[in-house]
Amino acid sequence: MEAHPDIQTTQKGFRCTLCGVNLPNEPTVDAHVKGRKHQNLFRLRATRKEQEQNSVFVSGIKPDTSQMQLIQHFEQFGPVTDVIMDKEKGLYAIVQFEEHAGTDAALVQLQHEMGNIKLRVKAREKKEFKVVLKKKQDGKNYNLDTLSQELCQAASVNEQMLRVVESLQLNENERDGRALLVKMLQEVFTEFFPDCEILPFGSTINTFGVHSCDMDLFLDLEKTKTFQARAKSSSEQAGDCPSEDGRSEDSILSDIDLSAASSAEVLELVAAVLRKCVPGVHKVQTLPTARLPVVKFSHRDLNLQGDITINNRLALRNTRFLQLCSGLDSRLRPLVYTIRLWAKQKQLAGNPFGGGPLLNNYALTLLVIFFLQTRDPPVLPSVDQLRHMACEEEECVIEGWDCTFPSQPIAVPPSKNTEDLYSLLSAFFSFYTAFDFSASVVSVREARQVPITCFLNQDPQNPQTQTLPNNNGAPKPLARPPRLGPLTVLDPFELRHNVAGNLSERAQKSFQLECGNAEKYCRSLQYQRKSAKGKSWGLVRLFAPRSPTVPSRGGSGSSESKERHLEISLPFRLAALPDAARFRLGTAGDGFREQWFAMVRVAAERVFQEVLGCSPAQEEEFEAQMDTGVMDTSNPEGRTPSCSSLDTSTSPLGTPQAGQKRPLASTDSSPISPQEKRQRLSSADEQPHSATWCWVQRHRVWAGRRKVRRDLLKSSGTESSQPEGDGVEMELQVTRLIAAKEPDPRDLLAFRVGADVFGGNENTKVVFRFTTLSDNLGLFQDFFHFLECFLPKTTDALLGK
Ligand code: ATP
Ligand code: MG
Repeated sequence: MEAHPDIQTTQKGFRCTLCGVNLPNEPTVDAHVKGRKHQNLFRLRATRKEQEQNSVFVSGIKPDTSQMQLIQHFEQFGPVTDVIMDKEKGLYAIVQFEEHAGTDAALVQLQHEMGNIKLRVKAREKKEFKVVLKKKQDGKNYNLDTLSQELCQAASVNEQMLRVVESLQLNENERDGRALLVKMLQEVFTEFFPDCEILPFGSTINTFGVHSCDMDLFLDLEKTKTFQARAKSSSEQAGDCPSEDGRSEDSILSDIDLSAASSAEVLELVAAVLRKCVPGVHKVQTLPTARLPVVKFSHRDLNLQGDITINNRLALRNTRFLQLCSGLDSRLRPLVYTIRLWAKQKQLAGNPFGGGPLLNNYALTLLVIFFLQTRDPPVLPSVDQLRHMACEEEECVIEGWDCTFPSQPIAVPPSKNTEDLYSLLSAFFSFYTAFDFSASVVSVREARQVPITCFLNQDPQNPQTQTLPNNNGAPKPLARPPRLGPLTVLDPFELRHNVAGNLSERAQKSFQLECGNAEKYCRSLQYQRKSAKGKSWGLVRLFAPRSPTVPSRGGSGSSESKERHLEISLPFRLAALPDAARFRLGTAGDGFREQWFAMVRVAAERVFQEVLGCSPAQEEEFEAQMDTGVMDTSNPEGRTPSCSSLDTSTSPLGTPQAGQKRPLASTDSSPISPQEKRQRLSSADEQPHSATWCWVQRHRVWAGRRKVRRDLLKSSGTESSQPEGDGVEMELQVTRLIAAKEPDPRDLLAFRVGADVFGGNENTKVVFRFTTLSDNLGLFQDFFHFLECFLPKTTDALLGK
């Protein structure tokens, strides 16, 4: 890593003092300093510094002194580029020269007389450049204090929940404003896209909208395509140019064939119409490569952000489904509003710019619906049940997915469940605290937890056998399983779509942890009873912002942040595995975890031994010599490698010098228990759930990898560089080159790695725990930072082979 003046090493990694951000490891430092934010601030600081050097501080002026007078006076010292006067009293000014020479000349002159005013001229004070982080003004948060006061006055938690809805929901003015915008857009777009329809969906109309929620719009161009095709064929018959009814002649439509155009082309047109023809619209931006290509815009007067998609018919239907659910049971809205606000306060949901690692509000709403479907008796029916309650006219298939359900709540018998909001809310938290997301998939369609193994045992060779569970014979366009993630919520209609597919493992963990905290809180008197002394109670405490004690990184559940610090986890990712392995795991039933772990053990061992050139060691070797303070490294060949090597030599990275000894560092950060010692093996052990290795590293293979890789790519004539950890062969070569450059190899580090697989209430993942056995040069921290990124990626790459 290159040295950067703004990067400081900290106990936890690095910190950029310019931008005020912490960075966990070297690759993130490199990416950060090349990133836009850092580069912008870097330039801004340079400009500020130059301005500071090229200007002088002038006092003694009068309130009626003008900028022009000052320019005329100071121009005798050099060209003046700017004069900034204090606005309130006009008592001082900053005079900025084009060049530093102007400042020097002005400062050299002892007396400055401007007419009959005596000016005092000083050098500018050197101020440290500091970034003031702008706090986002969030209207909703801003009102939380008022809401809290109101909630404290309520008589019960039930009442509090109803008040949450009242104060957050879109009011009549907001709804009218949005309806007007839809009308205006409809008029404008019809001019350019005859017969098109602009249809709102999402929280504006799904009954869960809050003040200033975004406005999701679908521009339906199906009828426009028909119009265009008709116009084309009639003009061809008439032998004319395509101007059949005059409407398309000068319109955008004459430039584009909608049935053949790409989404990106159509979106550009939509953006052009928005920019030029819709009053109040600004900040128009197209995102043609998003999962659903979209045009984003803002509206000044309505103070809202909008999204226009052209390919999102399923979202219209799932919006209708949410509306129906609200109509079926009046408890859904207060629960969703309360849980959404709780999740927002705990930073669990809401990705303000669309993408992000947190739960999206749609997924969170489906989690609430699913919870209500699984109550006994159920509060809401399953989507499959709803399908059977629909009449023939209500049948609906979109993109091959069965989206049939009744259009009116009246068609559905009311629920027999009588639980109140207060108990349902606490039951929600208990339900998801105990939910095993690593073993089950949430299916709103079936109102049941579908075992994850149902999605694993699909024969990749035979697409016909890939059936999604219990789709009731509904037509299905593509037999491909959903992308399983740390938390999988199947869309009610598009059954191969995990609506929480964006969720990171860390966000999933936080979700369950916060559910656990909330569950505990709901058992306390503070939740249950109104405070007689006017203190916060009920929901108010539930909405307290996320507590800083929530672990900030994944781990095996250890509460000691120091220990967590030396852990690296590798989540189970089905997508990383080749088809054959997926099939094998699928047929293993509940034993899939052990089988996967066996594969991970082999892959991880290869990463350490072959890709990073670590030599296996016996831990006893270190312990025996701890007492004498030296370690015998004369017989490294005695460290028997336990699997076949990509390399042909016995020791992949050079032969250690015979008889070489060196002092041992006593930095073992966690003493080993006798029981642990008994369990320890020199390589992957026989236990299906854990493994331990001891390694010695003789080269600084983590230092300067990026450059070596770049040089390698250049010399092989490959233009684009590969990301860290990709391309196992390449990484192996990088290690060899680094090792070859080190003239005097010696044992730098010795460390133990324990690996455990977790399932059950944890997500399925392997956690690698590191313990230093010897690190007298203090290198382990750097090595570990490097491994944090490299180990999971390279292990995954090997698993995919
Ligand atoms: P808010 O805008 O208040 O966060 P929302 O329900 O409008 O809530 P958006 O993220 O704006 O959420 O999404 C708009 C709509 O798009 C949703 O209501 C849903 O119909 C659909 N949608 C959003 N995310 C997904 C998803 N992951 N999978 C399928 N449909 C989705
Ligand atoms: Mg929305």
